[in-house]
Amino acid sequence: MSSRSLGLSDSVHGYLLEVMVREPPILTRLRDETQRLKFSTMQISPDQGRFMRWLVGLCGARRCIEVGVFTGYSSLSVALALPADGRIVACDVSEEWTSVARRYFEDAGLAHKLDLRLGPALATLDSLLAQGEKAAFDFAFIDADKENYAAYYERCLELVRTGGLIVVDNTLWGGKVADPSVDDSSTNAIRELNARAVRDPRVDASLISVGDGLLLLRKLA
Ligand code: CA
Repeated sequence: MSSRSLGLSDSVHGYLLEVMVREPPILTRLRDETQRLKFSTMQISPDQGRFMRWLVGLCGARRCIEVGVFTGYSSLSVALALPADGRIVACDVSEEWTSVARRYFEDAGLAHKLDLRLGPALATLDSLLAQGEKAAFDFAFIDADKENYAAYYERCLELVRTGGLIVVDNTLWGGKVADPSVDDSSTNAIRELNARAVRDPRVDASLISVGDGLLLLRKLA
């Protein structure tokens, strides 16, 4: 569902890839390998990867968090845009999928940028806060179990500095958020987060239709 941006025709998708995305060869290899796996639609689209690299550069990020790594396309996209001393704390529960991410970070010569934390992400985020890492991060990407989106959002809001960015994936959810006949826990959790973020005075929110919908949040205070 998110291996390409929602609603794009084949020709427009092809044009974006050819002219604008300039996907680094290592990301192309990772995308091809991931495409052969079960759950391969959990991988973000190449234009979304490009956009995230651009955002990381825009906000001058050095320290990043990722909630939900899968095989690492988004983490590696972010890492490629970070300065030499940049780091990404990457949270996931799967040893199997993150071992793919680890291998590609090594191939890219960026293993020193990856701080992989295996285990439930809420526990990892809470431990970062307990260790005094409040407002210590510049950029966070949330792309994990949707039922916990509101909890990840609250933690990341504390961990990210004022002016930092939080990006939440799958916030159009293949269009299901806009379909009143859909009433499941994941869809409802995404709807609730979108509605909550737009009213939240702590953030400036925008929802764009890149990939499967990206909720962009700039922390105001
Ligand atoms: Ca996703």
